[in-house]
Amino acid sequence: MDADVIVAGLGAHGSSAAYRLAARGASVLGFDRFVRGHTLGSSGGLSRIIRLSYYEHPDYVPLLRRAWTLWRDLERVSGETLLTETGGLYAGDPTGELVSGALLSARTHHLEHEVLDASALRRRYPLFEWPDGWQGVFEKQAGWLAPELCIETHLRLAEDSGATLRFDEPVERWESTPDGVRVSTSTGTFDAKKLVIAAGAWESQLAPSLAPELSVERSVLLWFEPTAERDAFARLPIYIVDDTDRIFYGFPYIEGQGVKVAGLHFGDRADPDTVDRTVSAGDEDRVRAWLRRRMPLVNGERRDAKVCMYTNTPDANFIVDRLADHPNVVVASACSGHGFKFSTVIGEILADLVLDGETRHPISFLSADRLVRG
Ligand SMILES: Cc1cc2nc3c(=O)[nH]c(=O)nc-3n(C[C@H](O)[C@H](O)[C@H](O)COP(=O)(O)OP(=O)(O)OC[C@H]3O[C@@H](n4cnc5c(N)ncnc54)[C@H](O)[C@@H]3O)c2cc1C
Repeated sequence: MDADVIVAGLGAHGSSAAYRLAARGASVLGFDRFVRGHTLGSSGGLSRIIRLSYYEHPDYVPLLRRAWTLWRDLERVSGETLLTETGGLYAGDPTGELVSGALLSARTHHLEHEVLDASALRRRYPLFEWPDGWQGVFEKQAGWLAPELCIETHLRLAEDSGATLRFDEPVERWESTPDGVRVSTSTGTFDAKKLVIAAGAWESQLAPSLAPELSVERSVLLWFEPTAERDAFARLPIYIVDDTDRIFYGFPYIEGQGVKVAGLHFGDRADPDTVDRTVSAGDEDRVRAWLRRRMPLVNGERRDAKVCMYTNTPDANFIVDRLADHPNVVVASACSGHGFKFSTVIGEILADLVLDGETRHPISFLSADRLVRG
């Protein structure tokens, strides 16, 4: 055996799994297809939202609570600042999925929150144009993570705990063996008892049985310099706005970056090997159209832009499970555009599944077979 566990993919979830496994005493061999610190997958772009009143589904809240605790633990252990707490504002039509979903999670799990009507929104957040009849939910326990530093921190701590991590070395194929798994990379063949596949947008290539349920979507992040009120923008919480056409979200002004905003799910299907990484005028226009309507002072000079990829499932919930017919292979995938914040707890869950065969965390709603059954 070359290792107890091989981890294929060392991005958000793979780096976290490598750390948790190594910290629990497993010998870990990790591979990534790109160089260390690359931003060609789903985790680039300097910031990721973390929040608890989860409009997507209340079942995520226990995982979020644990994820938050583990981010703070990771900061203590590493000495890094990874999570900036800003509070979070979720606003839109009260009957829409965002506001009603956030309230459902907050009320189900007794999360501290405030409900704001349109006039309260206007008083507290005058940088936005708020229509009559809209409602906001504000929660204090929300903010943003620095994704590149989070991944590097997990990688470093994994190595400190004994893991061997190899970059620029894609896993090309794997097979189950009587004792575990055999993994072939661009440079050799390696045997281990278990395999974790956390290949993000490339998951279908390494776990083809999941491919019918996964679709990769190109997604564009944009940074703007506000035309005025920079200090007021710096004091904003993270915000998600359920507008008439889709959900948009953004961050406060961050020194050196500007204000980052993006729209959710414009629906541009992509292949991770050929995705168009150039940001077009059309990509920018559809976000500027929203800025003109809702945050006119952000509609200034474009500071930066980046193409990223979502890996979506039909129900927008993740897959965290053992692979059917391959009990030694565990997968974490398809974070459907909202998985980064969970990567601490997903690493912990992957380590549980690999080392104990089960986890105390409530993850049945993330099983692969729900999609097949569904
Ligand atoms: C634009 C955008 C905005 C987002 N905003 C948020 C947000 O605000 N909050 C939030 O929580 N989530 C957000 N997400 C989602 C979140 O970023 C992703 O769910 C998360 O980063 C996915 O992590 P991952 O480990 O699956 O993928 P990645 O971090 O991309 O890691 C996959 C790794 O696998 C490697 N790999 C692929 N194939 C192979 C192979 N054959 N062999 C070896 N290695 C391989 C890749 O090189 C990569 O390093 C956003 C996503 C995008 C794209």
